[in-house]
Amino acid sequence: YRSISENILYKSHNAFNRKSLLPVGTVQNVARLYNDFKALSSELNRKLASRNRITEEVKKTKDATVKQDAIEKAKSLKTEISELKVRVVELEEQLLQTALLLPNDTHPDTPIGPEEAAVTLSTHGPSPLPESLSRDHVRIAKSLNLLDLDAGSTVTGTSWYYLINEGALLELALINYSISIAMKHGFKPVIPPDVVKADVALRCGFQPRDKGDMQQMYHIASDSRKEHPELVLSGTAEIPLAGLFANKVVEESQLPLKVVAVGKAFRAEAGARGSDTRGLYRVHQFTKVELFAVASESQSSEIMEDMKNVQAEIISGLNVPFRILDMPTEELGASAYRKYDIEAWMPGRGKWGEVTSTSNCTDYQSRRLHIRYRPSSVSRASATDNQSESLERQSLPFAHTLNGTAAAIPRLIIALLENGARLSGDEVAGLDLPSALKPFWIDKLDKNPL
Ligand code: AMP
Repeated sequence: YRSISENILYKSHNAFNRKSLLPVGTVQNVARLYNDFKALSSELNRKLASRNRITEEVKKTKDATVKQDAIEKAKSLKTEISELKVRVVELEEQLLQTALLLPNDTHPDTPIGPEEAAVTLSTHGPSPLPESLSRDHVRIAKSLNLLDLDAGSTVTGTSWYYLINEGALLELALINYSISIAMKHGFKPVIPPDVVKADVALRCGFQPRDKGDMQQMYHIASDSRKEHPELVLSGTAEIPLAGLFANKVVEESQLPLKVVAVGKAFRAEAGARGSDTRGLYRVHQFTKVELFAVASESQSSEIMEDMKNVQAEIISGLNVPFRILDMPTEELGASAYRKYDIEAWMPGRGKWGEVTSTSNCTDYQSRRLHIRYRPSSVSRASATDNQSESLERQSLPFAHTLNGTAAAIPRLIIALLENGARLSGDEVAGLDLPSALKPFWIDKLDKNPL
């Protein structure tokens, strides 16, 4: 029997490279708790074994005094055992909670350090336009009547928005355009729930229970009867997509499993810097088309390259300058072993802005969600009961999971507006949309838009 904490404690030697994620002393605490847990579990097993011996003795002996003695011993052992069981459970819970803070290992080629250590792998698309305030996406969107930030603010709050008229059509076109490219590469379409159990988010490597100012996920108030599990608004479709495969065993011959989903991403963005919150760049709710794959260990790095190429194909069709980056250790989420970002040039912001991200999470999520595969060399055991079936499962390898953005709609809208606006002097004269979006454009807009 391997406990969840043992499943996730398999490697943590590289955790020190992820210092932004790791509270000081975590690794040492995990080691101490693990040793205490092992020692206490052995003590419990010893006591259980001696209670079994005594029970046998009681059954066998004919001598009344010996029998009485043994019964007394068994009684006192019973109390000790139940106390020990409580302590073992408490200790394992403490170990689990601490071990859950450990991030994944990192790829040997991943640059070590903060954001500035990112390595640019390649640059694509047209030459970047010079930085210009006239190309600010908020200005362009307002002048073309595509965006209503004031109404978003009235109805929900700052950094909430309405896409209107062609702004709304642009979102729909980008969704269908990116899904069509993903499907061409074998990703199967899925519409997942956008509300998930906090526990599932945690198993994917998110910290839904961060406290106070640092809380990154929106929680749904639980009802007072506590009949429902703790629920959160999903920050990314990666969570329900990983959950789609939870507790499953997949035949190796079926791998990789590749899906593409459209979902709403909800982000509290606690602590986000002020400048990034202008317009659509860092909002609290956005539509995101997400790629997700389940692969075997030998497939996952190749699938990651494939996902990066699908992302590059999507951004390439939008005719904006972009570059692909190998992200450094401190920029990787807890679950990521390796991460590539794509940044598009945004002349109105005068900066490159992240538009996609893809991560190979190796077996980090599948260890927590119990996603396994049966290698082709292992034949299905003819399990006769639940126990042998569960033992068979435990001997199977964990799958690797990968996720990547196909389209983070608001950031793509920024890139399209800032690069594609036709200016006449300082005035916005129109918007040139890439021809790749044309097949996905609903061209029936009322002559009198909102
Ligand atoms: P992440 O899951 O954090 O890697 O985000 C995926 C993509 O969503 C990023 O590459 C960004 O393009 C976009 N994104 C992340 N956070 C926000 C936000 N608060 N508002 C708009 N877009 C975002």
